[in-house]
Parts: sequence; C-alpha cells; structure tokens
Amino acid sequence: MEYSILAESFKKMESTRKRLELTQFLVELFEKTPHEVISKITYLLQGKLRPDFEGIEIGIAEKLAIKAISKSSGIAIKKIEEEYVKGGDLGHAAAIILEQKTQTTFLMENITVERVYETLFKIAKLEGSGSQDMKIKYISSLLNDANPLEASFILKILLGTLRLGVAENTVMDALAIAYSGSKENRKILENAYNVSSDLGKVAETIATKGIEGIEKFQIKLFSPIRPMLADRVKSEKEVIEKMGKEFAIEYKLDGERVQIHIENEKIELFSRSLEKISNYYPDIIEKIPKIIQAENAILEAEIVAINENTGAFLPFQELMHRRRKYKIEKAVSEYPITVNFFDILYCNGKNCTELSYSERRSKLENIVKENEFAKYIPMIKAKNENEIAEFFENSINAGSEGLMLKMLDKPYQAGSRGSHWLKLKREYRNELGDSLDLVVIGGFFGKGRRTGSYGTLLLATYDENTDTFPSICKVGTGFTDESLDQLYQILNPKITIKKNPRINSEMEPEIWFEPELVIEIIASEITLSPIHRAARDEIRKDAGLALRFPKFTGKIRVEKIAEDASTNEEVISLYKGQNKSAHNKNLM
Ligand code: ATP
Repeated sequence: MEYSILAESFKKMESTRKRLELTQFLVELFEKTPHEVISKITYLLQGKLRPDFEGIEIGIAEKLAIKAISKSSGIAIKKIEEEYVKGGDLGHAAAIILEQKTQTTFLMENITVERVYETLFKIAKLEGSGSQDMKIKYISSLLNDANPLEASFILKILLGTLRLGVAENTVMDALAIAYSGSKENRKILENAYNVSSDLGKVAETIATKGIEGIEKFQIKLFSPIRPMLADRVKSEKEVIEKMGKEFAIEYKLDGERVQIHIENEKIELFSRSLEKISNYYPDIIEKIPKIIQAENAILEAEIVAINENTGAFLPFQELMHRRRKYKIEKAVSEYPITVNFFDILYCNGKNCTELSYSERRSKLENIVKENEFAKYIPMIKAKNENEIAEFFENSINAGSEGLMLKMLDKPYQAGSRGSHWLKLKREYRNELGDSLDLVVIGGFFGKGRRTGSYGTLLLATYDENTDTFPSICKVGTGFTDESLDQLYQILNPKITIKKNPRINSEMEPEIWFEPELVIEIIASEITLSPIHRAARDEIRKDAGLALRFPKFTGKIRVEKIAEDASTNEEVISLYKGQNKSAHNKNLM
C-alpha cells in the first residue's frame, strides 16, 4: 500500500477534532487498506508499532531527527533548528525544509506503508554502540524518498508527536462500519479488544474473518486482559443500596495490581496499565510456578510489600524500591513482598471471565496452593452494614486501604468500570470524599531547605474528550525530603523546553515536564477557578475547577500512565457531590 494514502489520511484527521468526521476519515482509509497491512495501519494511527504491552518504543531524540533531516536535505542543522523554533513542530519544520531541498535524488521511489513500518521497526530495535548512526541512516533513507507531507508524518511518528486524536473507541467504530456495515457491532469489537489489549489484532481479525471471527475471538496467554475496575462508594449504606443482596467483601490491599500469565515454566507479569513488569519481581517468577496446579492460567493478584519480621502489610510506596534496572537482587531481599490472589481469568485452556465471581473464587482456591509468599486476599460474604463496618475495620488495622465489594453472581467484565465491583476507601470519608490521581505538568524551584528540588508542582487532570491535560492546581505540601528527592530524580528526564501541546494551562511554571508522571493528591474542596483549565466552561462559563488546599499523599503512581489520571468527569462529579453534601448539612 502506498504510504501517500496514509499520509493524506493523517492530514485530513489532523484537521478536525470532531469524532464523526474522524470516524468517516478512518472508514475511508480502512476501505483502501489491503488486509495484509490493516494491523500495521492501526498501530501507526496511534503512533505505535505494536500493542503497548510488548514495550516497543519508537521515540527518537529531536537532535537525532534534525541530523537525519540535514543529511537527507543537505540543509544546515542550524537552519532546521530555526525553522523548528518558529513553528514548534519538527514534523512540520521538516516538510518546509524538504520543500527547499538542495540535494535532489534522481531515482525517487514511491514509498510503501510496509517499508515505512519495517524501517521504523528496525530503528526501534536498534541499541548499543553505533546505533545512533544507523538510526540517522535509516531515517534519512526514508526521507530521501518521501515527499514533504509524507516526511512530516514519518517524523511525527518517530518523535512521538503524532496526535490525530483518534481514541480506541473511534477506531473501533470505524472498523465496525468498514467491515460489518454497522457501528452497532462496536460492542463486539470492544469485547475482543478488552481481552487482548491489541487493537491491531482486532482490526486484522475483523478484516479477514468478519464479525463472526470477532465473536469467536479468544483470550490468548501472554496477551494481557484489560482489567476490571470498581466504582467508588462513600458509605456502608451506599454499598447495601447498590448490591441489593448478599455479596463478597475483600480487603483492598495497598499494593500493585499484577496479572500473571503462566504456562508450565513460562511466566510473565503485567501491571495495571499492561506494562511488562516481570523484571522487577524475580521472586514471583521463581516461586509462583511451583504453587500453580494447572497447565496454564491467567491470575490476578495484588503485590504488597511486607515487614519481614512481623509480616504486616507496608504502604504502596515501599514497592517503588523494586522499580529499578540494576541490583534488583538487593531490592528483592531488602523489600520483601507477598502475592495476594483475588481472581482467575483463564485456566487449562478455558476462558474463566464468563464464570460468576463465586465460581472463579472457588477455582482460584483450587488452583493456587497457599504458602507464606502467596495467599488469597481475605474475603467474607456479607449482607448488612454491620458486617461491612466490621470487616472494614479489620482491613484498615491490617494496613489496607479499605474494601472491595463484589457481586457474587457476576462475570469478570474486562476493561470496564462498573457497579459489579465497588470500592470503599478510608479517605472516601474525608472532606472531599476521594483522592485524585493527577499528572505533573510543571514545576517551580524550591527555596530554602528545598533548594535543588521542585518545591511546588503544577498538576493536571486528563480530558478524555480532547486528549489533553488541563491544569487543576499547584501543590507544595505533603512532601518529605525523601519524596522531594525522588520526584526530582524522576522528573528531570521529563523536562521539555517547550510546553507539550497536549498541556492546557494558562499558569506558566518555571519548568515544563512531559505529561507522564501521575501522583496522588487529597484536597479539602473543589472550587471554581478563573485560572485553572480543568472542566473549563462545564460548571460556569469562563471558569475551570481547582483544588483547594491540595496535599501530596506521598504516593507516586508509577503503575498509572497519564491517561489513567483522574478525568474532568470525575472531578465534576466530586464537585457536584460535595455541593450536595454541603446543601444537606445546611438543611440539617
Ligand atoms: P485506586 O486509585 O483506588 O487504586 P484504580 O483506579 O487503580 O483505583 P480501581 O478499580 O478503582 O482501580 O480499584 C481497584 C484497584 O485496587 C486495583 O487496580 C488493585 O490494584 C487494587 N486492589 C486491592 N485489593 C483488591 C481486591 N481485593 N480486588 C481488586 N482490586 C484490588
């Protein structure tokens, strides 16, 4: 397939933010796409080469891209940099530069999607000495044969700045229309995506096997399943109202969620955001296969740091020490853990997600042999508020965050947050009703004791509709010397000279960061704000929402990506909830 078709399509998509138009452009693109390249096109659309869980990163540095543009065009690096500074987008700058190319290639070939994809793949795989030069060579060879529009999109993919605004759901709408004639079939596609986390595979299946193929889509070992999530509730009373009849209650442990895929001796661990985390937990890799009594299985558990002497649960932050590349053995012995199982999604070649909670829990207990290292999460069945309150207390005393409440007769709903699982946390009883997970977008240097660190951070929510990060508050409290230090180390590599275009902030920090790191914040109240951009115009025209007295809880949410941060909708619902309770108080 000619790459120009894709580049033209990208250009059209970039020109709109309207979902219906985007869907239409995608349908037109899919209709021109041969089946052999549909998966590649689907990954490229999202600026990727493979599904996220395979961990293939394309990202090249701007400097390297500039060198490649210079090599291909014969134009000086300085001139390219000037063009870049003028427009703020290197892909766009490359298009302008290549228009003025001084070196002409006489034998320009048409480039194909296959060639672009294979070359990008080779670039992503290169490492070690000499790899920089090879990368420049590969990029400039593509640019030599590309027209300016094609070149600009090749660079955007390479730099990770392709932002077409196509959410997964929009891609699935378009696939359903293009290959089954009806958007209604999106739901069936969603099921396939939820159990595979691989949109390219879903696209290929519907293109080659139609909707019937999608209906038969199977869970595959070592392809992670998108996790089921819980709705929050504020009180025992609300739990009873929502559950209606007897339900299961489990401790909500304060650790890291892990999805364990295992077949004989092969084992792989995936985080909540479906990143491979096997390297951080060699103890799990070694010990878990010995206690699983099945040929293969997909299990879910919470990894919790423990005090070695007492066995007590320690807070989530302790697990941070495991997130390192080197000297992992030392971290394993210094920061011991337990693995606490709570679900089973696949067993002996069979899908278990369609079984009820009760059936899954008993299967889990049949298959996992408990020992000191691996346990089942504590669970009871309950019907009334008193039982919840008592178990809640036990859970908090054991060092947990609260409770998870699960309907006994319901299946595992991959990839959805719904009312079949509820969560009741300790801080839901505080002033705001919940903590928020916010993205760090900017920093202000510390003064006095905090010199050499970022004393204050600028934070944002995630706006799903526009795929941007609007500011919501500055936070300067709740930091310890240790956490300031840790944040400084983590944030430094994320510094950018220019504000990332996805950041929506009127407030100018001293330093901008790439919107990647998520931290947990509590606050006393949500107020209307003329400065901050979160949920702007939603409650009142020209006003956004801001947090009052925000405080860092000490939790750096390494297991969350920026798009998992609290959304504008969540903040709006907390804002409305808080006003309702204030109203009720006034009435009393
Ligand atoms: P939170 O910010 O509360 O951790 P979340 O957005 O990560 O929430 P939720 O569905 O809201 O996800 O809460 C479930 C999370 O709680 C899981 O991701 C998991 O890490 C953790 N957890 C602890 N104990 C349990 C349990 N018994 N069952 C399911 N999840 C549990």
